[in-house]
Amino acid sequence: MKHVGHFIGGETLPSRHGSKVFNPSNGQHTATAAIGTSADVDRAVAAARAAFAAWSSVGLQHRATMMLDMRRALQDSRDEVVGIVVAELGKTVADATAEVDRAIEVLGQLASVGSWYGGAYSPSVSRGVDAVEVRFPIGVVAAISPFNFPVLIPVVQSAMAIACGNTVVLKPSDRDPSATLRLAEIFSRAGLPNGVLNVVLGGKEVVDYLIEHPDVAGITFVGSTPVAKAIRIAGVSRNKRVQAFGGGKNHMVVLPDADLDLAADAAVSAAYGAAGQRCMAVSVLVAVGGIGDALVVKINERLTKLRTGNAANPATEVGPLISGESRDRIATYLADAKAGGASLVADGRNVLAEDGGWFLGPSLVDNVRPGMALHSDELFGPVLSVVRVSSYADAVAVIGAHPLGNGAAIFTANGGLAHRFVDEVEAGQVGVNVPIPFPVFFHNFAGWKDSAFTETKLFGPGAIAFHTRTKTVSTRWPEAAASRVDLAFPMPR
Ligand code: NAD
Repeated sequence: MKHVGHFIGGETLPSRHGSKVFNPSNGQHTATAAIGTSADVDRAVAAARAAFAAWSSVGLQHRATMMLDMRRALQDSRDEVVGIVVAELGKTVADATAEVDRAIEVLGQLASVGSWYGGAYSPSVSRGVDAVEVRFPIGVVAAISPFNFPVLIPVVQSAMAIACGNTVVLKPSDRDPSATLRLAEIFSRAGLPNGVLNVVLGGKEVVDYLIEHPDVAGITFVGSTPVAKAIRIAGVSRNKRVQAFGGGKNHMVVLPDADLDLAADAAVSAAYGAAGQRCMAVSVLVAVGGIGDALVVKINERLTKLRTGNAANPATEVGPLISGESRDRIATYLADAKAGGASLVADGRNVLAEDGGWFLGPSLVDNVRPGMALHSDELFGPVLSVVRVSSYADAVAVIGAHPLGNGAAIFTANGGLAHRFVDEVEAGQVGVNVPIPFPVFFHNFAGWKDSAFTETKLFGPGAIAFHTRTKTVSTRWPEAAASRVDLAFPMPR
């Protein structure tokens, strides 16, 4: 049995007791992960605080070079890390590889973090006085990550913070912590100084200790909406910086003029990839003006060809869900939707569990109405709901009325309407004939409405504001003769 411990001050700490980690493809208990105590959190925060003085004072270029060293190290360990993700999360080999590759890309792009720093400089704001804004790191950042991207999100959160000169205590999901722990070891071997990145395993208690800890300056959280909201409130009430990114319920609007084959391919890819366990997955298809019948047939044709099964099999396209509880919860939604009058076109409950894994086959539910739980709640599984509306305006209204607003997409050949959609839709990421508009790292990422509790961004130039604080410095080199006492409020002249 594998034991997964914390990583503090450059050392992996052994652990014999803790929570169980499973392989979702066969339900087997594969590892035991440590559950952090307040003493573990104290130790990790102390290590991060001790490392902060040196790390915050190295030059930007030194930190940029470190990002490249980390990138190279992750590239060298790519296959090993992919294997861990497949085994503990149940992502398919292709999907896990794409996740790790995106993380490698992020590290490369962060080498140019300095180009996002540009603070305002105003010469001669008053006679002989120049003003400049200077950025400083904020201190120890606590990063809390979800189960569904155990490599990409911890890399985005920690590398973003570290590149800006902060030090980090990372708390990965207790359901698949091994990949994140391995990242810390890989980055340490690549030369990241001890204490700059620490990992404490566990659940809510660890997060609570981190929020309360007086030496934690900022909290960057990615996970479900209720937890994101609670963390934001708890952290802000302690005058900490908190950016908390929550769940998604992403709509894909298909207009009557769209290429229906292209739209069906896109809907299937975006709804069922990662078994629907993506915050940017398309979970609602909004069929406008009578195309619903044809589109549902085309999507269903594609579903019959998808291979659901053990994630380790390279031919598998849809892997298992993270837990049996998750599968059963989603199955209940399907039963309730059917009882409520929706049409279960493809019923994933009929897919037999292979090897005891937590499988739910790709499911397609037509005639879903806004207000049904299937539409209002984030399911986080391989279920696509079809809502039929009569006009473009109705489609935008359905999205606008939903409390979540991570992403939204439109499929159309009409450039004018697509432009209107970009203006009118309430979502932080918008796709035009692009079903998952997950941006490249040098653009901003943050949801709208209850998909994000923050003014800053998870990544992109807008993330710099979270990870740094500024001083505005006014400088004068006066001639002694020009000096005099003046008690009036300073007026720039
Ligand atoms: P989760 O909210 O259950 O857990 C996220 C993290 O918080 C984990 O580390 C977990 O251990 C911890 N946690 C859980 N309950 C807590 C509590 N009550 N108090 C404090 N900490 C707690 O989320 P998950 O199931 O791991 O991940 C899936 C969710 O994450 C989905 O809702 C998905 O949409 C969302 N997500 C959002 C984004 C985004 O960028 N907005 C990206 C990926 C995933």
